[in-house]
Amino acid sequence: MAWATITKSAADRASANMPDPERTRAEFSWDDARAMLDGLPGGGLNIAHEALDRHVAAGHGDQIAIRWLGKDGTRRDLSYASLAADAARFANVLVSNGVKPGERVYGLMGRVPELYAAALGTLKAGMTFTPLFAAFGPEPIKARMEIGEGNVLVTTESLYRKKVAAWREEVPSLRLVLIVDDGDAPEGCVALKPAMAAASDKFDTARTTEDDMALIHFTSGTTGRPKGAVHVHGAVMSHVATGRFALDLKPGDIYWCTADPGWVTGTSYGIISPLVNRVTMIVDEAEFDLERWYGILQEEKVQVWYTAPTAIRMMMRAGKEAAEPFDFSSLRFMASVGEPLNPEGVVWGKEVFGRPFHDNWWQTETGGIMIANTAAMDIRPGSMGMPLPGIKAGIVSRDDGGIEECKPGEIGELALRPGWPSMMRAYLHEQARYDKCFVGDWYLTGDLAMKDKDGYFWFVGRADDLIKSSGHLIGPFEVESALIEHDAVAEAAVIGIPDETAGEVVKAYVALKPGFEPSEELEREIRGHARKKLGPAVAPREIVFRKQLPKTRSGKIMRRLLKARELGLPEGDISTLESDEK
Ligand code: ATP
Ligand code: MG
Repeated sequence: MAWATITKSAADRASANMPDPERTRAEFSWDDARAMLDGLPGGGLNIAHEALDRHVAAGHGDQIAIRWLGKDGTRRDLSYASLAADAARFANVLVSNGVKPGERVYGLMGRVPELYAAALGTLKAGMTFTPLFAAFGPEPIKARMEIGEGNVLVTTESLYRKKVAAWREEVPSLRLVLIVDDGDAPEGCVALKPAMAAASDKFDTARTTEDDMALIHFTSGTTGRPKGAVHVHGAVMSHVATGRFALDLKPGDIYWCTADPGWVTGTSYGIISPLVNRVTMIVDEAEFDLERWYGILQEEKVQVWYTAPTAIRMMMRAGKEAAEPFDFSSLRFMASVGEPLNPEGVVWGKEVFGRPFHDNWWQTETGGIMIANTAAMDIRPGSMGMPLPGIKAGIVSRDDGGIEECKPGEIGELALRPGWPSMMRAYLHEQARYDKCFVGDWYLTGDLAMKDKDGYFWFVGRADDLIKSSGHLIGPFEVESALIEHDAVAEAAVIGIPDETAGEVVKAYVALKPGFEPSEELEREIRGHARKKLGPAVAPREIVFRKQLPKTRSGKIMRRLLKARELGLPEGDISTLESDEK
Protein backbone atom coordinates (compact mmCIF):
# COMPACT_ATOMS: atom_id res chain seq x y z
CA MET A 1 0.00 0.00 0.00
CA ALA A 2 1.36 3.38 -0.89
CA TRP A 3 0.65 5.88 1.84
CA ALA A 4 -1.66 8.71 0.93
CA THR A 5 -0.23 12.22 1.03
CA ILE A 6 -1.37 14.22 4.05
CA THR A 7 -2.46 17.58 2.73
CA LYS A 8 -2.49 20.75 4.78
CA SER A 9 -5.52 22.97 5.03
CA ALA A 10 -5.46 26.57 3.84
CA ALA A 11 -5.70 27.63 7.49
CA ASP A 12 -2.65 25.49 8.43
CA ARG A 13 -0.67 27.03 5.64
CA ALA A 14 -1.68 30.58 6.42
CA SER A 15 -0.74 30.29 10.09
CA ALA A 16 2.66 28.66 9.44
CA ASN A 17 5.84 30.66 10.00
CA MET A 18 6.79 29.71 6.48
CA PRO A 19 3.52 29.75 4.54
CA ASP A 20 5.22 29.48 1.15
CA PRO A 21 8.29 27.26 1.56
CA GLU A 22 9.24 27.41 -2.09
CA ARG A 23 9.36 31.15 -2.06
CA THR A 24 11.28 31.37 1.20
CA ARG A 25 13.72 28.81 -0.10
CA ALA A 26 14.30 30.91 -3.19
CA GLU A 27 14.68 34.20 -1.34
CA PHE A 28 16.41 33.27 1.90
CA SER A 29 19.99 34.10 2.70
CA TRP A 30 21.84 33.53 5.97
CA ASP A 31 21.94 37.28 6.46
CA ASP A 32 18.19 36.97 7.07
CA ALA A 33 18.91 34.61 9.96
CA ARG A 34 21.53 36.98 11.32
CA ALA A 35 18.88 39.70 11.17
CA MET A 36 16.61 37.60 13.43
CA LEU A 37 19.26 38.10 16.13
CA ASP A 38 20.70 41.04 18.03
CA GLY A 39 24.43 40.56 18.07
CA LEU A 40 26.41 41.84 21.01
CA PRO A 41 26.43 45.53 21.71
CA GLY A 42 29.64 46.69 20.06
CA GLY A 43 29.91 43.64 17.79
CA GLY A 44 30.24 39.88 18.04
CA LEU A 45 27.77 37.06 18.50
CA ASN A 46 27.13 34.98 21.59
CA ILE A 47 24.53 32.23 21.96
CA ALA A 48 23.67 33.08 25.58
CA HIS A 49 23.04 36.69 24.76
CA GLU A 50 20.63 35.72 21.99
CA ALA A 51 18.93 33.08 24.14
CA LEU A 52 18.44 35.20 27.27
CA ASP A 53 19.74 38.72 27.66
CA ARG A 54 18.19 40.24 24.58
CA HIS A 55 14.73 39.00 25.61
CA VAL A 56 15.16 40.44 29.09
CA ALA A 57 16.33 43.75 27.61
CA ALA A 58 13.27 43.77 25.35
CA GLY A 59 10.94 43.52 28.35
CA HIS A 60 10.22 39.77 28.36
CA GLY A 61 12.06 39.00 31.58
CA ASP A 62 8.90 37.76 33.29
CA GLN A 63 8.02 35.24 30.63
CA ILE A 64 8.62 31.65 31.71
CA ALA A 65 11.67 30.25 29.95
CA ILE A 66 11.61 26.80 31.56
CA ARG A 67 8.77 25.00 33.21
CA TRP A 68 10.56 22.21 35.00
CA LEU A 69 8.70 19.05 35.97
CA GLY A 70 10.53 17.04 38.60
CA LYS A 71 10.40 13.26 38.80
CA ASP A 72 8.60 13.56 42.14
CA GLY A 73 5.84 15.81 40.86
CA THR A 74 7.53 19.13 41.76
CA ARG A 75 6.95 21.90 39.30
CA ARG A 76 9.23 24.93 39.01
CA ASP A 77 9.03 27.91 36.71
CA LEU A 78 12.14 29.83 35.70
CA SER A 79 11.58 33.16 34.03
CA TYR A 80 13.85 34.51 31.34
CA ALA A 81 15.11 37.07 33.86
CA SER A 82 15.92 34.48 36.51
CA LEU A 83 17.60 32.14 34.03
CA ALA A 84 19.66 35.06 32.68
CA ALA A 85 20.67 35.95 36.24
CA ASP A 86 21.63 32.35 37.02
CA ALA A 87 23.65 32.10 33.82
CA ALA A 88 25.49 35.30 34.80
CA ARG A 89 26.14 33.91 38.29
CA PHE A 90 27.47 30.70 36.81
CA ALA A 91 29.74 32.65 34.47
CA ASN A 92 31.05 34.58 37.47
CA VAL A 93 31.69 31.36 39.38
CA LEU A 94 33.76 30.04 36.47
CA VAL A 95 35.80 33.21 36.20
CA SER A 96 36.36 33.50 39.94
CA ASN A 97 37.67 29.94 39.91
CA GLY A 98 40.27 30.87 37.32
CA VAL A 99 38.59 29.32 34.27
CA LYS A 100 39.69 31.09 31.10
CA PRO A 101 37.83 31.84 27.86
CA GLY A 102 38.11 28.92 25.48
CA GLU A 103 38.41 26.37 28.29
CA ARG A 104 36.03 23.46 28.34
CA VAL A 105 33.17 22.90 30.71
CA TYR A 106 31.38 19.55 30.80
CA GLY A 107 27.87 19.02 32.10
CA LEU A 108 27.02 15.61 33.56
CA MET A 109 23.60 15.50 35.16
CA GLY A 110 19.98 14.69 34.52
CA ARG A 111 17.52 17.24 33.22
CA VAL A 112 17.72 19.53 36.24
CA PRO A 113 17.42 23.33 36.14
CA GLU A 114 21.11 23.80 37.04
CA LEU A 115 22.07 22.21 33.74
CA TYR A 116 20.49 25.01 31.74
CA ALA A 117 22.11 27.81 33.74
CA ALA A 118 25.46 26.00 33.48
CA ALA A 119 25.25 25.55 29.72
CA LEU A 120 24.23 29.14 29.07
CA GLY A 121 26.58 30.60 31.70
CA THR A 122 29.48 28.74 30.10
CA LEU A 123 28.64 30.19 26.69
CA LYS A 124 28.18 33.63 28.19
CA ALA A 125 31.65 33.44 29.69
CA GLY A 126 33.15 32.48 26.31
CA MET A 127 33.97 28.94 27.32
CA THR A 128 33.01 25.73 25.52
CA PHE A 129 30.19 23.56 26.77
CA THR A 130 29.99 19.78 26.36
CA PRO A 131 26.91 17.97 27.60
CA LEU A 132 27.22 14.36 28.63
CA PHE A 133 24.44 11.90 29.21
CA ALA A 134 24.06 11.12 32.91
CA ALA A 135 23.49 7.43 32.23
CA PHE A 136 26.94 6.94 30.72
CA GLY A 137 29.25 4.68 32.69
CA PRO A 138 32.61 5.88 34.13
CA GLU A 139 34.64 4.78 31.11
CA PRO A 140 32.66 6.63 28.42
CA ILE A 141 32.70 9.73 30.60
CA LYS A 142 36.43 9.52 31.11
CA ALA A 143 37.07 8.86 27.41
CA ARG A 144 35.02 11.90 26.38
CA MET A 145 36.72 14.02 29.01
CA GLU A 146 40.11 12.99 27.62
CA ILE A 147 39.20 13.51 23.98
CA GLY A 148 37.80 16.98 24.71
CA GLU A 149 40.48 17.84 27.31
CA GLY A 150 37.80 18.98 29.73
CA ASN A 151 38.79 21.56 32.34
CA VAL A 152 35.61 21.81 34.40
CA LEU A 153 32.92 19.31 35.28
CA VAL A 154 29.50 20.28 36.61
CA THR A 155 27.75 17.29 38.11
CA THR A 156 25.88 15.86 41.07
CA GLU A 157 27.50 14.37 44.13
CA SER A 158 26.27 10.88 43.40
CA LEU A 159 27.35 10.94 39.76
CA TYR A 160 30.73 12.26 40.88
CA ARG A 161 31.24 9.51 43.45
CA LYS A 162 30.02 6.71 41.19
CA LYS A 163 31.43 7.74 37.86
CA VAL A 164 34.22 10.28 38.17
CA ALA A 165 36.10 10.11 41.48
CA ALA A 166 37.94 6.88 40.63
CA TRP A 167 39.65 8.24 37.51
CA ARG A 168 39.76 11.97 38.20
CA GLU A 169 43.49 12.05 38.98
CA GLU A 170 44.25 10.38 35.66
CA VAL A 171 42.82 13.28 33.66
CA PRO A 172 45.05 16.22 34.55
CA SER A 173 43.18 18.73 32.36
CA LEU A 174 40.20 18.47 34.74
CA ARG A 175 40.90 21.14 37.35
CA LEU A 176 37.53 22.07 38.76
CA VAL A 177 34.52 19.98 39.74
CA LEU A 178 31.34 21.86 40.63
CA ILE A 179 28.67 19.97 42.55
CA VAL A 180 25.09 21.10 42.05
CA ASP A 181 23.45 19.48 45.12
CA ASP A 182 22.63 21.21 48.39
CA GLY A 183 25.11 20.77 51.20
CA ASP A 184 28.87 20.31 51.29
CA ALA A 185 30.72 19.09 48.23
CA PRO A 186 32.99 16.02 48.38
CA GLU A 187 36.66 16.69 48.95
CA GLY A 188 38.39 18.37 46.04
CA CYS A 189 35.10 19.70 44.64
CA VAL A 190 33.32 23.02 44.94
CA ALA A 191 29.68 23.34 46.02
CA LEU A 192 27.97 25.29 43.28
CA LYS A 193 24.95 26.67 45.13
CA PRO A 194 26.76 28.77 47.74
CA ALA A 195 29.20 29.92 45.06
CA MET A 196 26.30 31.00 42.86
CA ALA A 197 24.55 32.70 45.78
CA ALA A 198 27.67 34.74 46.49
CA ALA A 199 28.24 35.63 42.84
CA SER A 200 26.94 38.71 41.09
CA ASP A 201 24.01 38.28 38.72
CA LYS A 202 25.66 40.67 36.28
CA PHE A 203 28.28 39.51 33.84
CA ASP A 204 29.58 41.22 30.75
CA THR A 205 29.05 38.68 28.02
CA ALA A 206 32.32 37.53 26.48
CA ARG A 207 32.85 39.20 23.13
CA THR A 208 32.75 36.00 21.10
CA THR A 209 32.61 35.98 17.31
CA GLU A 210 30.67 33.76 14.93
CA ASP A 211 33.74 31.57 14.55
CA ASP A 212 34.55 31.04 18.22
CA MET A 213 34.10 27.56 19.57
CA ALA A 214 30.93 27.15 21.63
CA LEU A 215 30.04 23.47 21.92
CA ILE A 216 31.57 20.08 21.55
CA HIS A 217 29.04 17.34 20.87
CA PHE A 218 29.79 13.67 20.76
CA THR A 219 27.93 11.70 18.10
CA SER A 220 25.59 8.89 19.13
CA GLY A 221 27.99 6.05 18.37
CA THR A 222 25.43 4.22 16.29
CA THR A 223 27.92 3.24 13.62
CA GLY A 224 31.12 3.15 15.65
CA ARG A 225 33.27 5.09 18.07
CA PRO A 226 31.68 8.47 18.85
CA LYS A 227 33.27 11.52 17.27
CA GLY A 228 33.62 14.90 18.99
CA ALA A 229 32.08 17.51 16.70
CA VAL A 230 33.10 21.13 17.27
CA HIS A 231 30.48 23.88 16.91
CA VAL A 232 30.76 27.67 17.02
CA HIS A 233 28.67 30.58 18.30
CA GLY A 234 27.58 31.38 14.74
CA ALA A 235 25.48 28.17 14.89
CA VAL A 236 22.83 30.23 16.64
CA MET A 237 21.88 31.61 13.22
CA SER A 238 20.84 28.09 12.20
CA HIS A 239 19.13 27.54 15.54
CA VAL A 240 16.98 30.63 15.27
CA ALA A 241 16.00 30.04 11.64
CA THR A 242 15.37 26.30 11.85
CA GLY A 243 13.32 26.74 15.02
CA ARG A 244 11.06 29.03 13.07
CA PHE A 245 10.98 27.19 9.78
CA ALA A 246 11.20 23.54 10.75
CA LEU A 247 9.53 23.53 14.19
CA ASP A 248 7.23 26.46 13.56
CA LEU A 249 8.15 28.04 16.91
CA LYS A 250 6.44 31.31 17.72
CA PRO A 251 7.32 33.55 20.68
CA GLY A 252 5.34 32.49 23.73
CA ASP A 253 4.61 28.95 22.50
CA ILE A 254 4.61 26.10 24.98
CA TYR A 255 7.20 23.77 23.52
CA TRP A 256 8.43 20.36 24.59
CA CYS A 257 11.59 18.73 23.25
CA THR A 258 11.85 15.28 24.78
CA ALA A 259 15.54 14.75 23.94
CA ASP A 260 18.12 14.82 26.71
CA PRO A 261 20.71 17.60 26.41
CA GLY A 262 23.35 14.85 26.52
CA TRP A 263 22.69 14.62 22.79
CA VAL A 264 22.82 17.33 20.22
CA THR A 265 19.03 17.44 19.77
CA GLY A 266 18.57 18.17 23.45
CA THR A 267 20.98 21.10 23.23
CA SER A 268 20.25 22.62 19.81
CA TYR A 269 16.48 22.15 20.19
CA GLY A 270 16.17 21.56 23.94
CA ILE A 271 18.07 24.69 24.98
CA ILE A 272 19.28 27.04 22.28
CA SER A 273 16.69 27.19 19.50
CA PRO A 274 13.63 27.40 21.80
CA LEU A 275 15.14 30.09 24.00
CA VAL A 276 16.42 32.08 21.07
CA ASN A 277 12.88 31.92 19.69
CA ARG A 278 11.52 32.98 23.09
CA VAL A 279 9.22 30.07 23.80
CA THR A 280 8.36 28.50 27.14
CA MET A 281 10.01 25.12 27.27
CA ILE A 282 8.79 22.14 29.20
CA VAL A 283 11.66 20.20 30.76
CA ASP A 284 10.69 16.83 32.18
CA GLU A 285 13.20 15.26 34.50
CA ALA A 286 11.68 11.79 34.22
CA GLU A 287 12.21 9.15 31.55
CA PHE A 288 9.58 8.02 29.08
CA ASP A 289 6.36 6.90 30.65
CA LEU A 290 3.28 6.71 28.50
CA GLU A 291 0.73 8.10 30.96
CA ARG A 292 3.10 10.75 32.19
CA TRP A 293 3.81 11.95 28.68
CA TYR A 294 0.16 12.06 27.65
CA GLY A 295 -0.53 13.85 30.93
CA ILE A 296 2.15 16.48 30.24
CA LEU A 297 0.84 17.14 26.73
CA GLN A 298 -2.62 17.69 28.18
CA GLU A 299 -1.86 19.49 31.45
CA GLU A 300 0.86 21.79 30.16
CA LYS A 301 -1.07 22.50 26.99
CA VAL A 302 1.94 21.74 24.83
CA GLN A 303 1.67 23.43 21.43
CA VAL A 304 4.84 22.30 19.71
CA TRP A 305 6.31 18.90 20.44
CA TYR A 306 9.64 17.53 19.19
CA THR A 307 10.26 13.86 19.86
CA ALA A 308 11.77 10.72 18.35
CA PRO A 309 10.68 7.58 16.50
CA THR A 310 11.64 5.31 19.39
CA ALA A 311 9.12 7.12 21.64
CA ILE A 312 6.48 7.20 18.92
CA ARG A 313 6.84 3.45 18.45
CA MET A 314 6.45 2.94 22.18
CA MET A 315 3.23 4.91 22.12
CA MET A 316 2.02 2.92 19.14
CA ARG A 317 2.89 -0.27 20.95
CA ALA A 318 0.50 0.67 23.76
CA GLY A 319 -2.33 1.23 21.30
CA LYS A 320 -4.67 4.07 20.54
CA GLU A 321 -6.92 3.28 23.49
CA ALA A 322 -4.27 4.45 25.96
CA ALA A 323 -4.44 7.93 24.44
CA GLU A 324 -8.20 8.22 24.38
CA PRO A 325 -8.81 9.72 27.85
CA PHE A 326 -6.49 12.65 27.10
CA ASP A 327 -7.13 16.00 25.51
CA PHE A 328 -4.46 16.99 23.01
CA SER A 329 -6.26 19.93 21.52
CA SER A 330 -3.46 22.40 22.33
CA LEU A 331 -1.01 20.62 20.02
CA ARG A 332 -0.33 22.59 16.89
CA PHE A 333 2.84 21.06 15.49
CA MET A 334 4.62 17.75 16.10
CA ALA A 335 8.03 16.78 14.79
CA SER A 336 10.34 13.79 15.00
CA VAL A 337 14.05 13.23 14.54
CA GLY A 338 16.89 10.81 15.17
CA GLU A 339 15.91 7.84 13.09
CA PRO A 340 13.71 7.32 10.10
CA LEU A 341 10.08 7.72 11.06
CA ASN A 342 8.06 4.88 9.64
CA PRO A 343 5.07 6.07 7.57
CA GLU A 344 2.84 4.20 9.98
CA GLY A 345 4.06 6.54 12.75
CA VAL A 346 3.30 9.70 10.77
CA VAL A 347 -0.27 8.61 10.12
CA TRP A 348 -0.73 7.30 13.65
CA GLY A 349 0.12 10.77 14.93
CA LYS A 350 -2.71 12.20 12.91
CA GLU A 351 -5.18 9.62 14.17
CA VAL A 352 -4.27 9.98 17.82
CA PHE A 353 -3.23 13.62 18.19
CA GLY A 354 -5.13 15.09 15.27
CA ARG A 355 -1.80 16.14 13.69
CA PRO A 356 0.76 14.18 11.72
CA PHE A 357 4.34 13.92 12.94
CA HIS A 358 6.67 15.97 10.77
CA ASP A 359 9.87 14.02 10.24
CA ASN A 360 13.09 15.96 9.93
CA TRP A 361 16.67 14.97 9.32
CA TRP A 362 19.99 16.22 10.59
CA GLN A 363 23.02 14.94 12.46
CA THR A 364 25.43 16.00 15.18
CA GLU A 365 27.78 17.26 12.51
CA THR A 366 25.22 19.59 10.92
CA GLY A 367 24.36 21.22 14.26
CA GLY A 368 20.79 21.93 13.20
CA ILE A 369 17.90 20.63 11.12
CA MET A 370 18.71 20.37 7.41
CA ILE A 371 15.81 18.58 5.76
CA ALA A 372 12.28 18.80 7.08
CA ASN A 373 8.58 18.46 6.59
CA THR A 374 7.50 21.96 7.50
CA ALA A 375 4.12 23.18 8.70
CA ALA A 376 2.79 24.35 5.35
CA MET A 377 4.06 21.36 3.37
CA ASP A 378 1.97 18.39 2.38
CA ILE A 379 3.49 15.30 3.92
CA ARG A 380 4.40 12.18 2.03
CA PRO A 381 4.58 9.68 4.90
CA GLY A 382 8.01 8.06 5.02
CA SER A 383 9.75 11.06 3.46
CA MET A 384 11.96 13.30 5.55
CA GLY A 385 10.80 16.34 3.59
CA MET A 386 12.78 18.95 1.72
CA PRO A 387 15.92 21.00 2.41
CA LEU A 388 15.28 24.04 4.56
CA PRO A 389 15.94 27.56 3.30
CA GLY A 390 19.69 28.13 3.08
CA ILE A 391 20.40 24.42 2.65
CA LYS A 392 21.34 22.77 -0.61
CA ALA A 393 21.10 19.01 -0.43
CA GLY A 394 21.81 16.48 -3.13
CA ILE A 395 21.96 12.77 -3.76
CA VAL A 396 25.37 11.88 -5.11
CA SER A 397 27.41 8.93 -6.22
CA ARG A 398 31.16 8.69 -6.21
CA ASP A 399 32.95 7.51 -9.34
CA ASP A 400 36.69 7.23 -9.77
CA GLY A 401 37.32 9.85 -7.17
CA GLY A 402 34.80 12.25 -8.74
CA ILE A 403 31.31 12.93 -7.57
CA GLU A 404 28.08 13.17 -9.50
CA GLU A 405 24.49 14.03 -8.67
CA CYS A 406 22.04 11.15 -9.11
CA LYS A 407 18.83 11.36 -11.08
CA PRO A 408 15.48 11.57 -9.28
CA GLY A 409 14.54 8.16 -7.94
CA GLU A 410 18.12 6.90 -7.78
CA ILE A 411 19.64 5.94 -4.47
CA GLY A 412 22.88 7.65 -3.55
CA GLU A 413 24.65 9.29 -0.68
CA LEU A 414 22.95 12.24 0.95
CA ALA A 415 25.25 15.24 0.56
CA LEU A 416 25.05 18.88 1.60
CA ARG A 417 26.71 21.96 0.17
CA PRO A 418 28.79 23.40 3.04
CA GLY A 419 28.16 26.96 4.14
CA TRP A 420 25.38 26.94 6.73
CA PRO A 421 26.35 28.44 10.08
CA SER A 422 25.90 25.42 12.36
CA MET A 423 28.17 23.11 10.39
CA MET A 424 30.78 21.42 12.56
CA ARG A 425 34.24 22.91 12.28
CA ALA A 426 36.21 19.80 13.22
CA TYR A 427 36.14 16.32 14.64
CA LEU A 428 38.36 16.72 17.67
CA HIS A 429 41.78 15.17 17.04
CA GLU A 430 40.55 13.47 13.90
CA GLN A 431 41.50 15.74 11.06
CA ALA A 432 41.74 12.92 8.51
CA ARG A 433 38.27 11.64 9.36
CA TYR A 434 36.91 15.17 9.04
CA ASP A 435 38.65 15.78 5.71
CA LYS A 436 37.21 12.56 4.34
CA CYS A 437 33.67 13.96 4.74
CA PHE A 438 34.31 16.54 2.03
CA VAL A 439 34.53 15.56 -1.62
CA GLY A 440 34.34 18.12 -4.40
CA ASP A 441 31.76 20.72 -3.45
CA TRP A 442 29.98 18.43 -1.04
CA TYR A 443 29.88 17.37 2.57
CA LEU A 444 29.00 13.68 2.60
CA THR A 445 26.69 12.62 5.39
CA GLY A 446 27.24 8.85 5.41
CA ASP A 447 23.51 8.32 4.90
CA LEU A 448 21.85 6.95 1.79
CA ALA A 449 18.74 8.56 0.42
CA MET A 450 16.73 9.22 -2.68
CA LYS A 451 15.08 12.35 -4.01
CA ASP A 452 11.80 12.00 -5.87
CA LYS A 453 10.88 14.04 -8.92
CA ASP A 454 9.07 16.61 -6.78
CA GLY A 455 12.05 17.22 -4.54
CA TYR A 456 11.03 15.20 -1.46
CA PHE A 457 13.93 13.34 0.17
CA TRP A 458 13.55 9.71 1.28
CA PHE A 459 15.91 8.10 3.76
CA VAL A 460 17.15 4.68 2.69
CA GLY A 461 19.64 3.72 5.40
CA ARG A 462 23.07 4.43 6.67
CA ALA A 463 25.74 3.68 4.12
CA ASP A 464 27.09 0.99 6.48
CA ASP A 465 23.70 -0.68 6.80
CA LEU A 466 22.87 -1.06 3.11
CA ILE A 467 22.20 -4.64 2.07
CA LYS A 468 23.27 -5.97 -1.31
CA SER A 469 21.26 -9.01 -2.28
CA SER A 470 21.28 -10.64 -5.75
CA GLY A 471 22.01 -7.32 -7.41
CA HIS A 472 19.38 -5.42 -5.38
CA LEU A 473 20.30 -2.61 -3.04
CA ILE A 474 18.07 -2.89 -0.02
CA GLY A 475 17.71 -0.18 2.58
CA PRO A 476 16.80 -1.51 6.02
CA PHE A 477 14.29 1.30 6.61
CA GLU A 478 12.00 0.13 3.82
CA VAL A 479 11.95 -3.42 5.15
CA GLU A 480 11.52 -2.34 8.77
CA SER A 481 8.64 -0.05 7.86
CA ALA A 482 6.87 -2.91 6.07
CA LEU A 483 7.38 -5.20 9.05
CA ILE A 484 5.93 -2.79 11.59
CA GLU A 485 2.79 -2.48 9.53
CA HIS A 486 2.00 -6.00 10.67
CA ASP A 487 -0.34 -5.92 13.65
CA ALA A 488 1.92 -7.95 15.90
CA VAL A 489 5.12 -6.00 15.29
CA ALA A 490 6.21 -3.15 17.56
CA GLU A 491 9.76 -2.64 16.29
CA ALA A 492 12.04 -4.17 13.73
CA ALA A 493 15.72 -4.05 12.81
CA VAL A 494 17.04 -5.44 9.58
CA ILE A 495 20.58 -6.45 8.60
CA GLY A 496 22.25 -8.27 5.72
CA ILE A 497 23.96 -11.58 6.41
CA PRO A 498 26.38 -13.24 4.02
CA ASP A 499 24.95 -15.78 1.61
CA GLU A 500 26.81 -17.84 -0.97
CA THR A 501 24.43 -17.30 -3.85
CA ALA A 502 22.83 -13.93 -3.16
CA GLY A 503 25.86 -12.19 -1.66
CA GLU A 504 23.72 -11.14 1.26
CA VAL A 505 20.24 -11.99 2.45
CA VAL A 506 17.95 -9.97 4.66
CA LYS A 507 17.52 -10.98 8.27
CA ALA A 508 15.06 -9.24 10.56
CA TYR A 509 14.91 -8.89 14.32
CA VAL A 510 11.45 -8.17 15.58
CA ALA A 511 10.00 -7.07 18.93
CA LEU A 512 6.33 -7.90 19.37
CA LYS A 513 3.50 -5.82 20.75
CA PRO A 514 1.96 -6.83 24.07
CA GLY A 515 -0.45 -9.74 23.65
CA PHE A 516 1.61 -11.49 20.96
CA GLU A 517 3.90 -14.45 21.62
CA PRO A 518 6.74 -15.60 19.39
CA SER A 519 5.89 -18.72 17.41
CA GLU A 520 6.87 -20.38 14.15
CA GLU A 521 3.45 -19.65 12.84
CA LEU A 522 3.73 -15.95 13.60
CA GLU A 523 7.18 -15.86 12.03
CA ARG A 524 5.74 -17.38 8.84
CA GLU A 525 2.86 -14.98 8.88
CA ILE A 526 5.05 -11.90 9.25
CA ARG A 527 7.38 -13.16 6.55
CA GLY A 528 4.38 -13.68 4.28
CA HIS A 529 3.18 -10.16 4.99
CA ALA A 530 6.62 -8.75 4.17
CA ARG A 531 6.85 -10.79 0.98
CA LYS A 532 3.52 -9.46 -0.17
CA LYS A 533 4.56 -5.87 0.47
CA LEU A 534 8.15 -5.99 -0.66
CA GLY A 535 8.48 -8.94 -3.04
CA PRO A 536 10.59 -12.04 -2.39
CA ALA A 537 13.91 -10.42 -3.33
CA VAL A 538 13.65 -7.77 -0.63
CA ALA A 539 11.60 -9.46 2.11
CA PRO A 540 13.51 -10.98 5.02
CA ARG A 541 14.61 -14.54 4.56
CA GLU A 542 14.60 -15.07 8.29
CA ILE A 543 12.88 -13.38 11.20
CA VAL A 544 13.91 -13.81 14.81
CA PHE A 545 12.05 -12.46 17.82
CA ARG A 546 13.67 -10.33 20.48
CA LYS A 547 12.15 -8.80 23.60
CA GLN A 548 14.15 -5.65 22.91
CA LEU A 549 16.39 -4.38 20.16
CA PRO A 550 19.81 -3.00 21.01
CA LYS A 551 19.66 0.80 21.01
CA THR A 552 21.80 3.77 21.82
CA ARG A 553 20.78 5.80 24.83
CA SER A 554 19.31 8.32 22.43
CA GLY A 555 17.01 5.58 21.15
CA LYS A 556 18.62 4.58 17.88
CA ILE A 557 18.63 0.96 16.81
CA MET A 558 22.20 -0.35 16.63
CA ARG A 559 22.13 -2.59 13.59
CA ARG A 560 25.91 -2.92 13.55
CA LEU A 561 25.71 -4.70 16.90
CA LEU A 562 23.15 -7.20 15.65
CA LYS A 563 25.40 -7.82 12.69
CA ALA A 564 28.58 -8.19 14.74
CA ARG A 565 26.81 -10.70 16.99
CA GLU A 566 25.37 -12.56 14.03
CA LEU A 567 28.81 -12.89 12.46
CA GLY A 568 30.70 -13.47 15.70
CA LEU A 569 32.73 -10.29 15.22
CA PRO A 570 33.93 -7.90 17.94
CA GLU A 571 31.14 -5.64 19.17
CA GLY A 572 33.20 -2.46 18.86
CA ASP A 573 32.46 0.67 20.88
CA ILE A 574 29.29 0.09 22.90
CA SER A 575 29.63 3.05 25.23
CA THR A 576 26.28 4.46 24.18
CA LEU A 577 24.38 1.15 24.23
CA GLU A 578 21.24 1.20 26.32
CA SER A 579 19.07 -1.87 26.20
CA ASP A 580 20.91 -5.06 25.66
CA GLU A 581 19.58 -8.50 25.15
CA LYS A 582 21.58 -10.93 23.10
P1 ATP B 1 27.55 7.93 14.89
O1 ATP B 1 27.82 9.00 13.87
O2 ATP B 1 28.45 8.05 16.07
O3 ATP B 1 27.48 6.57 14.33
P2 ATP B 1 24.82 8.81 14.83
O4 ATP B 1 25.06 9.04 13.39
O5 ATP B 1 23.61 8.00 15.20
O6 ATP B 1 26.09 8.17 15.52
P3 ATP B 1 23.80 11.38 15.42
O7 ATP B 1 24.56 12.49 14.83
O8 ATP B 1 23.15 11.57 16.75
O9 ATP B 1 24.75 10.19 15.60
O10 ATP B 1 22.65 10.94 14.45
C1 ATP B 1 22.55 11.39 13.12
C2 ATP B 1 22.08 10.26 12.23
O11 ATP B 1 20.78 9.81 12.67
C3 ATP B 1 21.88 10.66 10.79
O12 ATP B 1 23.09 10.65 10.07
C4 ATP B 1 20.90 9.59 10.33
O13 ATP B 1 21.56 8.37 10.04
C5 ATP B 1 20.02 9.40 11.54
N1 ATP B 1 18.83 10.25 11.44
C6 ATP B 1 18.55 11.39 12.09
N2 ATP B 1 17.35 11.87 11.76
C7 ATP B 1 16.84 11.04 10.84
C8 ATP B 1 15.62 10.99 10.09
N3 ATP B 1 14.69 11.90 10.24
N4 ATP B 1 15.47 9.97 9.23
C9 ATP B 1 16.43 9.04 9.09
N5 ATP B 1 17.57 9.03 9.76
C10 ATP B 1 17.79 10.00 10.63
MG1 MG C 1 26.70 9.78 12.39
